Amino acid sequence: MKISQMGLGTTRLKNINEQFPAQDILIQSGQLLQYGAGIYAYNNIPLAVKQNIESLIREELNSRECIEISLPTLQPTSLWKESGRLERYTSDGTMMTIANGEFCLAPTAEEAVVAFARNKIKSYKDLPTIFYQIGEKYRNEIRNRGYLMRGKSFPMMDAYSFASNEEDLVKAYMIMKEAYLSIFRKLGLEVVPVAADNGAIGGKKSEEFMLLSENGEDTILYDERTGQAFNKEILDKDDYGEYLHDEYGIMNLSSLQPRKAIELGHIFQLGTKYSETMKNATFMNEDSKEQPYYMGCYGIGISRTLATIYERSILKDKSGKPQGIALPTYIAPYALQIISKGDSPIKVAEAEALYRVLSEHNVKIILDDRNEVSIGAKIKDAKVLGTPYLGLLGDRTKKGEIEVENTRTGEKVLISQCELAKQLIKFNQERIGNPDISLEDTIKFQPNQEKEIVR
Ligand code: ATP
Ligand code: MG
Repeated sequence: MKISQMGLGTTRLKNINEQFPAQDILIQSGQLLQYGAGIYAYNNIPLAVKQNIESLIREELNSRECIEISLPTLQPTSLWKESGRLERYTSDGTMMTIANGEFCLAPTAEEAVVAFARNKIKSYKDLPTIFYQIGEKYRNEIRNRGYLMRGKSFPMMDAYSFASNEEDLVKAYMIMKEAYLSIFRKLGLEVVPVAADNGAIGGKKSEEFMLLSENGEDTILYDERTGQAFNKEILDKDDYGEYLHDEYGIMNLSSLQPRKAIELGHIFQLGTKYSETMKNATFMNEDSKEQPYYMGCYGIGISRTLATIYERSILKDKSGKPQGIALPTYIAPYALQIISKGDSPIKVAEAEALYRVLSEHNVKIILDDRNEVSIGAKIKDAKVLGTPYLGLLGDRTKKGEIEVENTRTGEKVLISQCELAKQLIKFNQERIGNPDISLEDTIKFQPNQEKEIVR
């Protein structure tokens, strides 16, 4: 993509929000647009990051035989009367209703998926099965905090499992738990599953996928040594000491320290809560008897995950002040940004040629084609967009050469444009969802000790 066509200009960052600097940079640079508290538009790059996250999720779920569907986000409130949840979701203002309360904008989709399953699941032969969708959810959150972290309208992956008995429900739950761990590993996020309260969703067992972070709104009790984690609600139990000892082998309560965390996902064993309250939520069992099915439900906050990845990608200057973003290569939509000296026709032509070759090989990169902008300003802008590698064509590069910089580490390497193209084509086929590989594995970068060249 060419910068001149992205609808973004040069950004002079000022007074960056201390707690959520990366998202503030996205707002200041017009990559994220706020329409009101908790309502956002995404410009191309964060949108492409979101699509990459969604693709990784799809890949993991499809490989586990989960079936992708799409449920309506506009739902008749009569469905919610049927499950008995209308009152709970309207009384605290979470649910947004329209047309005199006849419809609502989906805050979640347990009711809608039961309505979907009614005509699909008839016999034990149709079970077990897991449906999932990736779609917008609407919750009129009172406190919108941390930009995308808590929106009023936000994308979620929500999945629903159906089984003929409790044992198969537990199996589906374990499949989803494993899928979640794999998804978050591919996203470079070290989440810990934490036993949690089921809240408004209902059911028996549930676990939240928490990422330790000072930015988090939740507090968990975490054992540094073993990695064991618990929801702090556990302290409300009268006999929590005994419970933690008996159930989890915790000998020393002082090893559990309160830590802030972000809830990125949640999985629930619902049992028959919905199938017993809603009509025709049954299947014919092996003895030809009608029986309510056992459900599980599973959610991942896509925009909250995106926000978390961005906030972990903040670039700081020597004094620790945020100065930009460096997205990890395993999720960045564009691996490289080519920056040339605008007043040198030769460098501009070389940049164009390299851009063309890489585009022809489906390597998505950004070309800064603004001739009037200085190299220094272009580098600053690249760090606002978060591109992991810069390809510099300036005074230091001879004909056919390019200087590649890892924006996160500052490490650089001078190589031939041909070699870079070759390595990048290879790297690009493997990099998404692969936190363990980097371009440095094939190109030898020099440590960040030499003096700065262009700035
Ligand atoms: P929270 O406790 O943060 O309000 P929740 O427990 O109500 O979240 P769930 O119903 O479990 O949320 O939804 C599944 C996932 O959707 C959550 O784990 C979270 O990642 C995400 N999520 C929930 N609410 C929001 C929101 N307002 N904005 C962005 N993501 C959200
Ligand atoms: Mg939750």
